[in-house]
Amino acid sequence: MKHSAYDVIVVGGGHAGTEAAHAAARMGVRTALVTLDRNGIGIMSCNPAIGGLGKGHLVREIDALDGVMGRAADLAGIQFRLLNRRKGPAVQGPRAQSDRAIYRREILRMTENQENLDILEGEVTDFLMNGQAVAGVVLADGSVIPSTSVILTSGTFLRGVIHIGDVSKPGGRMGDKPSIKLAERLDSFNLPLGRLKTGTPPRLDGRTINWEILDEQPGDDDPVFFSFLTRSVSAKQVSCGITHTNARTHEIIQKNLERSAMYGGHIEGVGPRYCPSIEDKIVRFAEKDSHQIFLEPEGASDHTVYPNGISTSLPQDVQEAYVRSIRGLEQAVILQPGYAIEYDYVDPRSLTLELRLKDVPGLYLAGQINGTTGYEEAAAQGMVAGLNAARECLGEGPVSFSRSNSYIGVMIDDLTTNGVAEPYRMFTSRAEFRLSLRADNADQRLTPLAIEIGCAGEGRRSAFLEKSNRLQQARSVLETQSFTPKQVAAAGIRVNQDGNRRTGLDILAFPDVVFEDVVPLMPELSGVDEGIRRQVERDALYANYIARQEREISAMKRDEGYVIPESFSYEGIEGLSQELQQKLTRARPETLAQAARIDGMTPAALALLLARLRRDR
Ligand code: FAD
Repeated sequence: MKHSAYDVIVVGGGHAGTEAAHAAARMGVRTALVTLDRNGIGIMSCNPAIGGLGKGHLVREIDALDGVMGRAADLAGIQFRLLNRRKGPAVQGPRAQSDRAIYRREILRMTENQENLDILEGEVTDFLMNGQAVAGVVLADGSVIPSTSVILTSGTFLRGVIHIGDVSKPGGRMGDKPSIKLAERLDSFNLPLGRLKTGTPPRLDGRTINWEILDEQPGDDDPVFFSFLTRSVSAKQVSCGITHTNARTHEIIQKNLERSAMYGGHIEGVGPRYCPSIEDKIVRFAEKDSHQIFLEPEGASDHTVYPNGISTSLPQDVQEAYVRSIRGLEQAVILQPGYAIEYDYVDPRSLTLELRLKDVPGLYLAGQINGTTGYEEAAAQGMVAGLNAARECLGEGPVSFSRSNSYIGVMIDDLTTNGVAEPYRMFTSRAEFRLSLRADNADQRLTPLAIEIGCAGEGRRSAFLEKSNRLQQARSVLETQSFTPKQVAAAGIRVNQDGNRRTGLDILAFPDVVFEDVVPLMPELSGVDEGIRRQVERDALYANYIARQEREISAMKRDEGYVIPESFSYEGIEGLSQELQQKLTRARPETLAQAARIDGMTPAALALLLARLRRDR
């Protein structure tokens, strides 16, 4: 079949692919999304939830760039929770349980309605080559589609193998064929490939769960949305159930460990440390006699329940036995068994900051194929690749994201500099500038860029400009008026009677002061709306910390020659992840500079290390 040519072809309709296709199309270039099945666009392969710690920041940033993930997740949200609500705003993460069917429907609807974007169904089996450069794709039916650039986002499909116990079969995910031919074509590029694995739990029939005896986890009363454009909840809200594994569950799993694909030696790929299977938990945390399980409904009118916390590659009969040993699940029926999947990934150090392969002109990679795990990480990479592929077609320079302006920048820098040793997922601890990279200010950080490069639609642009005006008005009142300590105290705010005049912003920087406290001093602020109040408050609160953080980071650069004593212990350094404590203990770096080069070491982690070294001196 003959197809017309495109500027950008995106291969794969998962989370990376849809975001990449939308980004390119919003930039105004002719874009095609080629995927195996139109109805598979926007499928959530694993947990029916979007966001969380670090991940929620990524979704906010995608939204600030006018992407689709946040808006679809809000429309599909059946339970909204702001994680870390009691901690500071910098580490709070919006999360929403999604109605899987609504999410898919909304992503498909937005994709069908996006200007400059065609959806083509088919399996991409090869690339059209122009010398060493990729110049389009070839489909399984032999048709050829030329393009200026191609973005490959094939997820877990490259030589995917599904494992349930000792039964293994080729598969991209349950019910889908793997991409073998495309993997063979990639072999011919001599790319550095590796093997990773991930797993998913059995799905349960919610009608067979005894909800009556389980604890209930409702959503927040005041839902926090992902999109800066969402104003209200759309879908029916539900609660999740909570249950726990017990001694009997652990005994069943322990007895059958050798029958799991993982422990039976059928899997060579490395799995995500932060999302361990239930067999991993039982081996690694042998001292624990119980693990929590969240029973998450997959939709408001869907009986399927996702038991978060018990992903597995054990045989089906063992899955049935251990599930039924759990309180409330005694009669539970498994609708689909859990499984593990192994797949090829490309070492992301072979990519530029724009996610283009350094040695294969015209080819960009985004998503799980780059060694990451998670919908949000995939979508954020799709955004980067989509914008850059479009800009390349338009003859414009690259748009890159930095560690100081976004979590997207942190992730791209981590991937392209350090590569991955296990599936990469985002955490707030990876971002050294996290005080300024808050989920609440993602629009202030990134929407101006979106407007400048032309990827923000008119609705986004006008909503942003209108909000910025309101913010500016409130800030200028707070900045221009100042008060004596006596005046401040008379408004009921405790302050040092040091004779110094303070502006409204200075007063808001006190940790316990809220916007409402300063309104009596400046009555013209009484009409400021809730959203602007909280934003101004947070910006003021963090202003001093951010200035201090920046000073610390430049001081740290000077400290790189600092010698680490041989006897130094990395254990128990507060804020330093277990993973890094172990890596440092193994590597025994001699200086701070050497420690900085250890895989996964972030400037934030270095700052913690330096503080401990100074303390112990
Ligand atoms: P995908 O969402 O997998 O999309 C790939 C797309 O490419 C699909 O639309 C497919 O049809 C298409 N495609 C593939 N090959 C071709 C081809 N040759 N031609 C045309 N189209 C093609 N994430 C977590 O955060 N936590 C977890 O616990 C977790 N567990 C997981 C368990 C399993 C079993 C699986 C499969 C995934 C799991 N994930 C988990 C990962 C999460 O699903 C992915 O990270 C995310 O979906 C990756 O997005 P993606 O766009 O890169 O790929």
